[in-house]
Amino acid sequence: MSIEAGRAGEAGRGSEAGGSTIEARGDSKWDHQFDVVVVGSGGGGLTAAICAHDLGQSVVVIEKSDLYGGTTAISGGGVWIPCNHLMGALGGSDNYDEALTYLKAATQGLVAEARLRAYLDHAPQMVRHLEEKARVRFCAMPTYSDYYPEMRGAKSGYRTCDSMPFNAAELGEEFARMRPPTPGTLIGGRVQMTAGEAHTLLTKERGWVLLFIRKMARYWLDLPWRFRTKRDRRLTLGNALVGSLRRSMMDRNIPLWLETPLESLVYDGRRIAGVTAIRDGKIIRIAANRGVILAAGGFEHNQAMRDRYLPQPTKAEWTVTPPANTGDAIRAGQKVGAKLDLMDRAWWAPTVTVAGREKRRALFVERALPGCVMVNKLGRRFVDEAAPYQDIVTAMFEDNQKTGANFPAWLVFDADFRRKYPVGPLLPGMVRPDSSLPKHWADNVYYKSDSLADLAKRIGIDATGLAESCKHMGEYAASGKDPEFGKGSNTFDRYYGDRNVKPNPCLGPIAKPPFYAMRIDGGDIGTKGGLLTDEFARVLRDDGQPIAGLYATGNTSAAVMGPSYPGAGSTIGPAMTFGYVAAHHLAGV
Ligand SMILES: Cc1cc2nc3c(=O)[nH]c(=O)nc-3n(C[C@H](O)[C@H](O)[C@H](O)COP(=O)(O)OP(=O)(O)OC[C@H]3O[C@@H](n4cnc5c(N)ncnc54)[C@H](O)[C@@H]3O)c2cc1C
Repeated sequence: MSIEAGRAGEAGRGSEAGGSTIEARGDSKWDHQFDVVVVGSGGGGLTAAICAHDLGQSVVVIEKSDLYGGTTAISGGGVWIPCNHLMGALGGSDNYDEALTYLKAATQGLVAEARLRAYLDHAPQMVRHLEEKARVRFCAMPTYSDYYPEMRGAKSGYRTCDSMPFNAAELGEEFARMRPPTPGTLIGGRVQMTAGEAHTLLTKERGWVLLFIRKMARYWLDLPWRFRTKRDRRLTLGNALVGSLRRSMMDRNIPLWLETPLESLVYDGRRIAGVTAIRDGKIIRIAANRGVILAAGGFEHNQAMRDRYLPQPTKAEWTVTPPANTGDAIRAGQKVGAKLDLMDRAWWAPTVTVAGREKRRALFVERALPGCVMVNKLGRRFVDEAAPYQDIVTAMFEDNQKTGANFPAWLVFDADFRRKYPVGPLLPGMVRPDSSLPKHWADNVYYKSDSLADLAKRIGIDATGLAESCKHMGEYAASGKDPEFGKGSNTFDRYYGDRNVKPNPCLGPIAKPPFYAMRIDGGDIGTKGGLLTDEFARVLRDDGQPIAGLYATGNTSAAVMGPSYPGAGSTIGPAMTFGYVAAHHLAGV
């Protein structure tokens, strides 16, 4: 029945790399036919597409936005892969049973063991496949600790893998259609750096000044590229990951249709047989002879879904993800009878306001540096400031239940901290002093005063509480111990501390005026709840049976990490892994 038809008409749309479109001329109800339709072009979707192709399937990726890459493109691009094959060469080792013990403890019994095992079995295979068959490259990070080092089975390094730099020139015209990195991951808003380099610069490891000069020189001396674009040719982090995945798709002529949002899933009474989508203002029907893989991210930007499912208060404007993630695929799955799970969870992260295009930035790491406190409206600390970002917002909700004082919370720091370290959009004062910041940032992006009492008044929090919190922090800095919340007491906290500060790299006094405050909202880097899947990434109905032909991965699916965030890379690692798993299952391998 299938008739070879070559490329689908792509004029003006741009992101077609050639391909295997087969028009179903014998079957008028479909406009296009493929073995596999992948919805969404983040890490989960692109990995699924490449793997399905490598298993002999014809594939199309449809993407709602005019840019590909999703949240993955603006992310750190790290993947958390226990027992990965890269660590051995660096002197690391891991053990399946320990990783399972850790995952079981972290997920608190909320995730089926079969899914945890599927993750541990397939994540290393997925990485190996992409490294051997595609252009994706990773590097295991020897000192990047798991987020809960005190839990059984945790490791102090090697499970998190950084995406290796990728040359944007390899993408040709497709480079312009990739979602650009968020300014928070760039030096001076321009120069890209790997996660390892970012760590060296932030924590002022030996050689950081030289590294900084080398990065700037390489960027500015790349003259041919400088005449072309402001964007760095050396892609790192999420841009490197998405760039290398996209290039690998181009090598395979897998079509990627931008501005083609999923509308609905087509059920033929037996299985999911395809999708309807909008293209050029028209509804089109695309057959998926083997299956549909939903990889369309979470529902961060859907305020109605946030109100319905997430703990309150919550606002779509607090997320840092791109705007297209409005839960479309989750709702499409629900309409064909899929069960939802973990809908009250998100990959929480404290976020701050950034004036201008970016609007929001997550505070991932600077909280760990010495000389700051995070307080509620009572001026009281409620959390270890260096804790994983997810735990900061969880603590905001928990403390808020008791005090009603955590939305917003505040990060308070002094002149020394301001001079030495970056905070949100503020570069260290020694590089960019207050006098050179845009005037409208004052009393908006940051607040400043010569006394703690006046600062408290300006931001509307209790001055006595704040004074006591800062005084205590000074005492803890001297002793090296934070008896309240244990800041700097474990390897993960210390990873982003300032190693030149003794006795505890995460503890410093807040004593030198002027004093600063930044408003903290309970934001996120994606939602976690979605379609419940099994160990084969098949979407399940309420009765636990799979919906034939329907798969989900990434933030469209309920997270395999359950309520937890075991280590850096725990969202993209599973998104890619279950994309790989889905491709194998529907190909019958
Ligand atoms: C600044 C930042 C740093 C981060 N760093 C890391 C990190 O280092 N490691 C890690 O594991 N996680 C990290 N995260 C989180 C991680 O990026 C996301 O959780 C992950 O990328 C989600 O991947 P995904 O494939 O599920 O979705 P996405 O990457 O968001 O891709 C979903 C795609 O689907 C598209 N889409 C939406 N609706 C439709 C529709 N109706 N039809 C078609 N397409 C649709 C979207 O436009 C998007 O392109 C970070 C997040 C941020 C914001």
